[in-house]
Amino acid sequence: MTLANIPPAPALPGARHLHSGKVRDLYELTEGPHAGKLLMVASDRLSIFDYVLETTIPGKGEILTRTSLWWFEQLADLVPNHVVSADPADIPAEVRGRAVICEKLDMLPVECVARGYLTGSGLVDYRATGEVCGIALPPGLEDGSRLPAPIFTPATKAALGDHDENVSYEAVAATVGADRAAALRDLTIAVYGRAEGIARDRGIILADTKFEFGVLTGDAAGGLVLADEVLTPDSSRYWPADEWQPGQTQPSYDKQIVRNWALSPESGWVKSSGEAPPPLPAEVVERTRSRYIEAYERLTGETF
Ligand code: ATP
Ligand code: MG
Repeated sequence: MTLANIPPAPALPGARHLHSGKVRDLYELTEGPHAGKLLMVASDRLSIFDYVLETTIPGKGEILTRTSLWWFEQLADLVPNHVVSADPADIPAEVRGRAVICEKLDMLPVECVARGYLTGSGLVDYRATGEVCGIALPPGLEDGSRLPAPIFTPATKAALGDHDENVSYEAVAATVGADRAAALRDLTIAVYGRAEGIARDRGIILADTKFEFGVLTGDAAGGLVLADEVLTPDSSRYWPADEWQPGQTQPSYDKQIVRNWALSPESGWVKSSGEAPPPLPAEVVERTRSRYIEAYERLTGETF
């Protein structure tokens, strides 16, 4: 269902299209000094409830690309990353500003999620079982509660249009081996801890986030490399710290404005209809764009 909503990826000179996800288009460079490397292009597409919306958010791809690059730098002493170049001179003009050249990795089939606060699918699991991914949590936690310590709550990557599924640590160990599972867990928690501290200093709570790791091809015994996008509002839940109040849905720096609008009577959309939400009003687009920019500027201290 979502696949149909993804527009064909534009042809780019010196690059071969490999894959389009809900938000990113992936190419392999075929010419020039970086031939053989990947070109990861962030579009302005936005998805909610696993639907790619027809309306795009101008500048979103660039904001997310810059956010991710900024975070890779902040984390560089903790973990190597896949970035080869974001030099505009290396990037095809059509996608300049919202594309990064990166190492082509063998990706590990685990969505490495760290949670410092309880919400979303973690809250759903906790309410049903008192646990998240097999980790028992204390009783009495609410939506938005801070956890006693950050936890590793891995998920399996779903096929396009499906939800990711939370899995136990043992399931990860069975898939990638015990040593690698431990390394993924420890690195995920370490990187989350660093990022959470940086965000907190800037008045933002990093409630949870998802990382993807890979290893260099032909280097199966090699170290983990942080890949994909990192710590963007698409892969993370960011909350304004001064508005944090457990026991309710927290206001957040992401697509919440769009989700709220889609679920309101104003949109005329029925979630259970099996149809994609209608086009967004200009005002919702503008507010969403401002929200992404605000998160970027508050986190990085830079002006978009
Ligand atoms: P969606 O996120 O919409 O569910 P998706 O994950 O397939 O779908 P994107 O996130 O848009 O789509 O695309 C990025 C893809 O590239 C992901 O499959 C991700 O695992 C992969 N990827 C990220 N970094 C690298 C890398 N360095 N080498 C190889 N593949 C990578
Ligand atoms: Mg993805």
